[in-house]
Amino acid sequence: HTTTMSCKAIDLSHHLNELSRSRVASPLKDIIKYMGEPGMISLAGGLPHPSLFPFGEVNTKIYAPDADLQSTGCTPNSPVDVSIPKYASPSNKNTLSSALQYGTSHGSAALSSFIRAFTSRVMNPGYSDFDILLNSGNTDAWNKVVNILCEYGDYILVEEYTYPSSQALWAPMRCKGVPILIDKDGMVPEALEVVLRDWDRVHPGVKRPHLLYLVPVGQNPTGATLSLERKKAIYNICVEYDVIICEDDPYYFLQFPKYVLPSQRNSEQYPDANEHLNPNSPGFEFDEQTLIDSLIPTFLSLDVQGRVIRLDTFSKTLGPGNRLGYFICNPVFAERLLRATEVTTQAASGWSQAHVEGLLTSWGQKGFLRWMIAMRDTYTTRREWMCDIIAESFDLVPSPEGIVDDVVAVQKDHGSTKDAITVPLFSFSFPKGGMFLWIKLYLSSNSIYQTMLKESQSSGTTAEAAVATTIEWAEAFWMDLIKEKVLLTPGSYYTPIIGAGGMKHTQPGVTFFRLAFSFETREEMKLGIERMAKVFERWWM
Ligand code: PMP
Ligand code: PLP
Repeated sequence: HTTTMSCKAIDLSHHLNELSRSRVASPLKDIIKYMGEPGMISLAGGLPHPSLFPFGEVNTKIYAPDADLQSTGCTPNSPVDVSIPKYASPSNKNTLSSALQYGTSHGSAALSSFIRAFTSRVMNPGYSDFDILLNSGNTDAWNKVVNILCEYGDYILVEEYTYPSSQALWAPMRCKGVPILIDKDGMVPEALEVVLRDWDRVHPGVKRPHLLYLVPVGQNPTGATLSLERKKAIYNICVEYDVIICEDDPYYFLQFPKYVLPSQRNSEQYPDANEHLNPNSPGFEFDEQTLIDSLIPTFLSLDVQGRVIRLDTFSKTLGPGNRLGYFICNPVFAERLLRATEVTTQAASGWSQAHVEGLLTSWGQKGFLRWMIAMRDTYTTRREWMCDIIAESFDLVPSPEGIVDDVVAVQKDHGSTKDAITVPLFSFSFPKGGMFLWIKLYLSSNSIYQTMLKESQSSGTTAEAAVATTIEWAEAFWMDLIKEKVLLTPGSYYTPIIGAGGMKHTQPGVTFFRLAFSFETREEMKLGIERMAKVFERWWM
């Protein structure tokens, strides 16, 4: 990632919606900057006096950044003490009297400057005047982005399967998703280009979408990770058609080495595992640059115009209950987001800011990156568990022509061969990042589906009947999984809303489920997938 950062953001203010253009600064927040002037006696702000905050001091234990998470499980092996006193001392300015007080909506200056240094080092944005603004996590962040950029009824470009909370936010604004084809490597740039190029012809008189929402790494729900080439292609298309990219990237540091099936592994060691990134390998010696270089650059790194709004969150790195994240974007958008923050959340929670600031200052930049190695390693192991267990419970065969996933699962010992998959149950790709594995079920080989379809075709057109039967089948299959006590997330949660009344984009004859490998133990995962295999067996008898 070597840009010179000589350029500044271009003027993209025409993307702001009417609401945001009309918003003025909160007058109360405006006076705060004068309060800090030397010698000022402020009779202006209605600040509660900190002596009346009933919290004396916080002392907390944090893990060392190189804690051995795999062997200790839940207990820190060498905890580090962090103290947040009530009042400042020369050695500690992270205090409860300021964390619990009103302040500017920028939040803690020390925390923001840590994040700025981290961002510059790891993401190296392609323009110099980017801004950082704290928020309450990516959910809050996306709400604020829509709040400054979208009008009622806008079309928003989304992945063909998209993060459901993101669309639940805009659906009541009568906005609609424009699903862009994805494959196992994420959004297909050519598909995006076609939609934008043909927009005026296909949708005469309708405003062309100007916002693209995507999850570039370990996509939720499909687990797909965009390559650098695809990111560049998508960025260039967005420049050409003047589209703002919102990259919601909670899983950026969870980029894994390639998965290899147990039957193709020569040893426990992965053929392409970089020993300098594997904390369990004998040659391991932590080097920040090796980690940074191993990561696919972000859209932010490619951005030379200020066209990308990056949403970063501590939810997956330090815990979702922190409700702490940050925007990185051009200064005009950052100022409008600040105005939107002043009148809504005011600031990220002071408790969170103080605790995260305490932790990050104790760890330092290097420690935080070292923590990412431990996390990445832990989730890589969990990805291995899940893929290995699926390989034990089903027969996995390479995908034939026409199936873009890595492998097809067939029933164990049902005699499918490499060239003739008699009964494909589902296909999937081995996740290269994130927390999810996404399976695609093929209903054409399912006799229950065929019977349901025949019955329903008497009462409607063939295409409508196939969509309705697919939905009905998936619901019944899901209920049967639940009866067997294994819970997956139905693919229908992620299908974009494309029309009025919540109308969704559903493909007939195939259906999807999302499996998370982030949470359950290996034993639980094994039991869960065995239960899932039982349900498949019942439905494909
Ligand atoms: N409403 C009124 C009437 C207030 O006086 C204040 C605080 N000055 C607020 C709202 C802001 O409250 P909070 O800090 O809970 O967001
Ligand atoms: N965006 C995506 C793509 C997610 O997967 C998640 C969490 O599941 C979130 C946002 C929520 O993030 P936060 O906890 O920062 O609001």
